Amino acid sequence: MESAATRLAEVRSNIARVCKPARREPADVALIAVSKTQDAAAIQPLIDAGQRVFGENRVQEAQAKWPELRAAHPDIELHLIGQLQSNKAEEAVALFDYIHALDRPSLLTALARAMDKAGRRVPCFVQVNIGDEPQKGGCPIVELPAFLDAVRAADVPLAGLMCIPPADTEAAPFFALLAKLAADHGLTGLSMGMSGDYETAVMLGATHVRVGTALFGSRA
Ligand SMILES: *Cc1c(COP(=O)(O)O)cnc(C)c1O
Repeated sequence: MESAATRLAEVRSNIARVCKPARREPADVALIAVSKTQDAAAIQPLIDAGQRVFGENRVQEAQAKWPELRAAHPDIELHLIGQLQSNKAEEAVALFDYIHALDRPSLLTALARAMDKAGRRVPCFVQVNIGDEPQKGGCPIVELPAFLDAVRAADVPLAGLMCIPPADTEAAPFFALLAKLAADHGLTGLSMGMSGDYETAVMLGATHVRVGTALFGSRA
């Protein structure tokens, strides 16, 4: 089995390779190592190899794992990439440096209140339901302009847009659509691309790719 350091170097070199034809700088693409379900023993080799940006999808799991790892490496940046329940907003604001799944007015209200209370503003990506899938989270495309206005009015820092394209279809058209929506609204951050499609996402403008399996191996 390859070491974590080898896999990290491979993913980084793949990002650099596709940056070239896209005329982008690899430094402008943040690689978020998605460490959900992985324990500290699995995460430590990546930290040792220099990785500092990590993503988790559950508040409670992250609370159990990260305070200790972070105490040893205060420069670690933690992203919440998964669905967030409004009643976990305070915990999320206390723990995470970025939140990727802001997708509805009730959550916006809870996050704005939590940020006021904590005196800490956490940049948020607005998740867009890019494939218009009823079972998926994300703001419907038709509601996006009004929701972005509401985010701005609530003084919640807007990091950009995020999406998870429909499974089992070509992701590129959905990435291109998200990039267009971001440009239409004057947003530069684009959180898109996972293990199977991060190179495509980078070619289409991703500023944040969320990569788990390609770095850690498959999840149990
Ligand atoms: C799990 C997860 C990822 C990473 O998926 P991989 O296919 O393992 O790279 C990315 N984004 C979100 C929102 C996830 O939940």
